[in-house]
Amino acid sequence: MFEGLSERLSSILDGLTRRGALTEEDVNAALREVRRALLEADVALEVVRSFTDKVRSQAVGANVVKSVTPGQMVVKIVNDQLVEMLGSDAQTIDLNAVPPVPILMVGLQGSGKTTSTAKIAKRLTDKSGRRVLMASLDTRRPAAMEQLAILGKQVGVETLPIVAGQSAVQIARRAMDAARLGGFDVVMLDTAGRVTVDEALMTEAAEVKKATDAHEVLLVADALTGQDAVHTARAFDGRIGITGIVLTRMDGDARGGAALSMRAVTGRPIKLVGTGEKVDALEEFHPARVANRILGMGDVVSLVERAAETIDAEKAAKMAEKMRKGKFDLDDLSEQLGQVEKMGGMGGLMGMLPGVAKMKQQISQSGMADGMVKRQRAIISSMTKAERANPDLLKASRKKRIAAGSGTKVEEVNKLLKMHRGMADVMKMMGGGKAKGVGGMLGR
Ligand code: GDP
Ligand code: MG
Repeated sequence: MFEGLSERLSSILDGLTRRGALTEEDVNAALREVRRALLEADVALEVVRSFTDKVRSQAVGANVVKSVTPGQMVVKIVNDQLVEMLGSDAQTIDLNAVPPVPILMVGLQGSGKTTSTAKIAKRLTDKSGRRVLMASLDTRRPAAMEQLAILGKQVGVETLPIVAGQSAVQIARRAMDAARLGGFDVVMLDTAGRVTVDEALMTEAAEVKKATDAHEVLLVADALTGQDAVHTARAFDGRIGITGIVLTRMDGDARGGAALSMRAVTGRPIKLVGTGEKVDALEEFHPARVANRILGMGDVVSLVERAAETIDAEKAAKMAEKMRKGKFDLDDLSEQLGQVEKMGGMGGLMGMLPGVAKMKQQISQSGMADGMVKRQRAIISSMTKAERANPDLLKASRKKRIAAGSGTKVEEVNKLLKMHRGMADVMKMMGGGKAKGVGGMLGR
């Protein structure tokens, strides 16, 4: 369902393109789709409302820059507004206090608190050169304490020795004392979680916060829980007061809605993002990337601007026509790759094409660097004209010959064909029906 967004927005764009002006009606039409997209990305209803109101007030009557269509202008406003709401500048963990600086990790069970505690401790140790002590306050599950100790060994961060029978507050105090004596810079306190927000959980976390005068209180939330994460964020912020959010499982199928909602509802910055189970799968939060994920739209405006600089209009028009008809053969791909080289490499262009984010990921996973573009073009030029027009003709023996002819490997030939198929599909999808998608954009 999420894939449909670029398409839907494209069709709205086309409508606007023909009219050529930003009236309230135009904007409302586009916003209906944006609203639907946000809801599908699991953004909380109240946030959707305030968001679309903001966009409307900016978009209606906005001056449309010459080089873009009104529709693209709307998308840019939506995008910019998303980025702003997600928090424009990068936020890091604040250690600006008398050491040892207590950092309290709170959240529901299974949200990733213990894992994130170890990840952050590792990061502060490796990147910032801090001495970190970790302590598990999870008194209900002895296995949880053990889990943190094991992670500690794994990341090379000390953990507070486990003493049975102590309360969470007692352990927290002991951790602070030990850190003071041991000359630690930071104390990371990993708390117990419950399946749902409950009073006992809140009281305990609030007590620990008070007892340690925690400098940071980080709410760890699972991005996959979407709207639920919002209730959690509101509950924890209202009761304990959080200073930031760590959003986990962004490597999963998270549509970014939780990030937008939580940020909007609490006003607290998303400080870090968990992107996997491994201890180094922790990243800074990039609002622009999440905005992209929510809109699935790519940076339309800069694509159009850069495309206009490098692609000569005639070729682009021809290409657009082919895309519209869903006829995108290997010659076209070679042509595009040539443009890619001009436009600053794969990384540059691919990220800007709507719907191509996934392919880009595949490409970077396959270790295909920008230098590959030349090899790919060599592969294509080793094919016959008929093969370039119809890659289905390529059987195993031909692929072997082509690989030899281009100084590459059969796997690379296969990868290229797969990539071409992926692109052709995306283009067919965008070219089919009313939506002109990239084709329409480039063909202007
Ligand atoms: P806690 O109950 O809040 O302490 O949660 P845990 O830290 O024990 O994590 C629960 C599960 O989620 C574990 O299997 C973790 O490996 C996994 N996990 C935590 N963070 C991430 C993440 O960012 N991505 C993925 N894919 N898994 C994660
Ligand atoms: Mg835990």
